[in-house]
Amino acid sequence: MINLIIFGPPGSGKGTQAQTIVEKFDLTHISTGDLFRDEIGNETVLGKKAKEYMNQGNLVPDEVTIGMLDNKLDQSQNPAGYIFDGFPRTLAQAEALDEILKKRNTKITHLIALDVNDDEIVNRLLERGKTSKRPDDQNEEIIRNRIEEYLEKTSPVFNYYNEQGVSNKVDGMGSMDDIFNRIYDILS
Ligand code: AMP
Repeated sequence: MINLIIFGPPGSGKGTQAQTIVEKFDLTHISTGDLFRDEIGNETVLGKKAKEYMNQGNLVPDEVTIGMLDNKLDQSQNPAGYIFDGFPRTLAQAEALDEILKKRNTKITHLIALDVNDDEIVNRLLERGKTSKRPDDQNEEIIRNRIEEYLEKTSPVFNYYNEQGVSNKVDGMGSMDDIFNRIYDILS
């Protein structure tokens, strides 16, 4: 069983790579950003709570995010494993994820961090914003805030899993295929 965290700053290509990894390894893709956007689209109470944080480029509070992730896993079973995209984004989320997986007699087997520099991230996200219609992709100040949130709250998650011996860094610059091949080497 593979339980992979695809890791890295916003705009590092996590979602794009996750789609290819899912096909090659038969994993279930869980993106908390996508789950929140579905909740917002369906105008649920959870969506209303998340929206104000997301539109400013701030992280949604841990208890909201962890509860949603736990529910999602309850509804899904995949013996091949999962790819977590955009989760965990704080140490508290990482600890909660480990507990949730432990209850299911499994654990995180790999964390793969995509390494991309800040200027490239801002350019990629502004470019994506032209078609994604995501409010958080369309304003440089909000994008820079998302990067700040990542550096301050999310980046320590790399070391947390490094201590478990499962963290890997991959160069996130280059063609999609080149980046995927680097990931494939780690997973196979
Ligand atoms: P993403 O689609 O992964 O770029 O996430 C978009 C936004 O959703 C983030 O900027 C956060 O506001 C929120 N979000 C997604 N995942 C999480 C998470 N694990 N913890 C807190 N906020 C999250």
